[in-house]
Amino acid sequence: SLADAAHIGRLAALVPADARLRPVVVSAMAGTTNALVALGDAAAAGVDWKPGWEALRQRHLETADAFESEAGGPLHVTLETEFAALARDLQDHASGVDPHAHDARLARIHGCGEQLSSRLAQAALGPDWHRLDAREVLVVHAAEMGAVVDWDASRARLATWRLAHGARDVVITGFVARDADGRDTTLGRNGSDYSAAIFANLFDADALTIWTDVDGVLSADPRLVPDAVCLDAMSYAEACELAYFGAKVLHPQTLAPVQSRGTPVRIRNSRNPAAPGTLIALEAAPAASPVKGLSLVRDVAVLELVGNGLV
Ligand code: ASP
Ligand code: MG
Repeated sequence: SLADAAHIGRLAALVPADARLRPVVVSAMAGTTNALVALGDAAAAGVDWKPGWEALRQRHLETADAFESEAGGPLHVTLETEFAALARDLQDHASGVDPHAHDARLARIHGCGEQLSSRLAQAALGPDWHRLDAREVLVVHAAEMGAVVDWDASRARLATWRLAHGARDVVITGFVARDADGRDTTLGRNGSDYSAAIFANLFDADALTIWTDVDGVLSADPRLVPDAVCLDAMSYAEACELAYFGAKVLHPQTLAPVQSRGTPVRIRNSRNPAAPGTLIALEAAPAASPVKGLSLVRDVAVLELVGNGLV
């Protein structure tokens, strides 16, 4: 949905005009996080990261041209500041200074794409929109199954932020957060939809829409099953099963923050906004076929253990 300036420019049309408050959570521009992960790896391996950094910088500055004509304008200056900070982090990462800061620095490198895209999105949406760096409010800690939200701390920080900024529309960085000690972290790859569900909970949203590039949740991977169909509706439990067992459309943790409040989730296609998408809610009517979806986990070995003491 954030492939280029044209796509970012169409954001405003996707946001409902009549909602009381419209928090928009953005992921990085397409391909950016992969590029940032590669830059971090290159820096750590002693490979020159500057050409990759420069390509990413050019791409973002050119995208900004669509929203601000003068190259020295505030949007361009802000992006340059982000890229200068990224270069410093990559430099430190390459030289291995302050190993205690290693994880937070790497998280900052990986999460830089959302800092950039949120500024572009804010420029596209207009001067009335605020920008919220999720690291200012979202407190998480790492656990075996991924990042776990500290709801009380996050709720309190968001309340403070809203007092200072007023109840206005806001663009929020997906993917990034901080831990209880204030160190930068991320919610894991593809974590932006999880971020969106967390903010839907924190803002007491009536509904959550996830804009992606497919028409909704498909009954199977269309590359393997050409006659896969888009599902109209499914329950949280059904969606969780599919996500957990490999369906790429949802991060496995996404639904928990909205499921606890019964907030309906709609998966929609930003390239085909006329399509209704898939509605995920507490209950879903049975589909035409008893099996709603199939997903596949690759490269799994099954071990059979046999012994006298085992039945
Ligand atoms: N930008 C992050 C990633 O690519 C988060 C996301 O897009 O969901 O993993
Ligand atoms: Mg994504």
